[in-house]
Amino acid sequence: MNTAAPRKPTTPEEFLKGFFRRHPALKAHAPSKVVAKSGGSGAHGEARQHGSEIHLFPKFWELSPDTQDFVFAHEIGHFILSEFGLSKAIDVCKSLDIDPWDSDKLPFGQFNQDEAFADSFASYFLDGDVKRRYPPWASLVEVVLGKSKPAQRVAARFLVAADYFQIGNIVLYGRWKNHRGKIIRFDQDKYGNPIVEIEPIPKGRKSNKIMGLFKFWRADVKEKALAEQAAQKAKQEAEAATDNAMKLADRMDDEPDEDDNDDDWEG
Ligand SMILES: [Zn+2]
Repeated sequence: MNTAAPRKPTTPEEFLKGFFRRHPALKAHAPSKVVAKSGGSGAHGEARQHGSEIHLFPKFWELSPDTQDFVFAHEIGHFILSEFGLSKAIDVCKSLDIDPWDSDKLPFGQFNQDEAFADSFASYFLDGDVKRRYPPWASLVEVVLGKSKPAQRVAARFLVAADYFQIGNIVLYGRWKNHRGKIIRFDQDKYGNPIVEIEPIPKGRKSNKIMGLFKFWRADVKEKALAEQAAQKAKQEAEAATDNAMKLADRMDDEPDEDDNDDDWEG
């Protein structure tokens, strides 16, 4: 008999102690209460989030330790998302180029955005798989946790995730690809295209180079950027026209005063 085999936890207290020792980063998101439930009907799965509480059902205790951890982190994910607000999260999805309604493309084979988020959240903290396989969803987790601003990171995320160019990489650039430089930043140009900033090596007095990453552009992104710029310009022109009209009106108001002054001189 192997008495050294680790004993599975049998109570929420035992489980929590081990869970937060294994995943200290999740301590900050600990549920307010964890309750072992007897289940009964069998309608419930292994665990369920209920407000800031997590309920553990009999099936939970039969799971392997790794699965228990994932299920538990998944339930925390449900709570974090409900605190943030699903509709707000859907707005964030748009800025991250995630279509939360496209159920064929949800991560981890999930069938709805709520479950997809909960799995992404668990994976973010437990195995990091979401960062490699579904980078936009890893970004979504970061935004929901308040760790990241969506728009400025999205381009970088995709490219870093492509696992090809990363900040700090030494690259060759220029027409003949004979200049050396270091990638220091990913961003977007005024048309919404991903760009990269490269610091020449040796730096000397040379300024950094900013260049586009693609030879082809997304039509919708460019058209949206142009429409926004046109709207901005129209707004400025309208404001300038109003300003001019007001200045003109001021001047016309002033003129009779000058006449009055003239009268005074004469008088
Ligand atoms: Zn769930």
